[in-house]
Amino acid sequence: MRFTRSLKAGAGVAVLALALAACGGGGGSTGASETGNQSLADKAKSTQKVVVGIKFDQPGLGLKQPDGTYAGFDVDVAKYVAKELGVPESGITFKEAQSAERENLIQKGEVDFIVATYSITDARKQKVNFGGPYFVAHQDLLVRSDNTDITGPDSLNGNKKLCSVKGSTPAQKVKDTYAKDVQLQEYGKYSDCVTALLNGSVDAVTTDDVILAGYAAAQAPGKLKVVGKGFTDENYGIGLKKDDTAGTSAVNAAINKMIADGSWATSLQNNVGPSGYKIPSPPTVPSS
Ligand code: GLU
Repeated sequence: MRFTRSLKAGAGVAVLALALAACGGGGGSTGASETGNQSLADKAKSTQKVVVGIKFDQPGLGLKQPDGTYAGFDVDVAKYVAKELGVPESGITFKEAQSAERENLIQKGEVDFIVATYSITDARKQKVNFGGPYFVAHQDLLVRSDNTDITGPDSLNGNKKLCSVKGSTPAQKVKDTYAKDVQLQEYGKYSDCVTALLNGSVDAVTTDDVILAGYAAAQAPGKLKVVGKGFTDENYGIGLKKDDTAGTSAVNAAINKMIADGSWATSLQNNVGPSGYKIPSPPTVPSS
């Protein structure tokens, strides 16, 4: 029954997509594929709307608030870039972009760009373009405050349970480089790992230090701590459609402007500063 219904829903979506493709071809355009290849820069300017992928559960970075608004450094970066592309705040639709879904969301055109603690990697560059980097974080570990034996990635031996997120780089890094026999649990999002850490079902959570600092600060003092020995460089990029060179240049220009006019530092102080995370200097962003 359920299956039939979802099949029907799927067919409905397909019909709608075809109808939209047929309508999309104004002004001599041939429709969906051409619209799909339009640069972010042109699309944003002409529609004054963008759909932006962010995290919904990362305090200080991308967090959906109880009143339905969004807050965090990534949210501010997204708003700044949108504004530079000619899109007012009212034209932005935020969509949750969980780690494993990011390339897919961009490739399918479900989001126009992503600002979601998204590390620039060679593997991801095969599928999407990146503007930036706009921030450099470092992979680290989050443990319960009373833990004394997890002091870095080397101390995660066989009987330790480690949590990270599907489709993210950190869990694999620990397995590949440090503790091959660590028991790894992968969830859909980091907030689920933090719940598991608090209730004792895992011993540590691994991802970028700036994310972990936000989780530690969101708990009562004395519950969680970041180990504080960053062991990678995570260059955060803004993901957009592969080969959208004009869009990537426009995004880079926006990031450079955000750094130059002080909004970058102000946003970090407001959103990330309260966790105690030491705000780094801005990275060098390509000029085009
Ligand atoms: N920056 C890392 C990544 O892009 C970890 C954080 C995340 O999953 O969002 O995979």
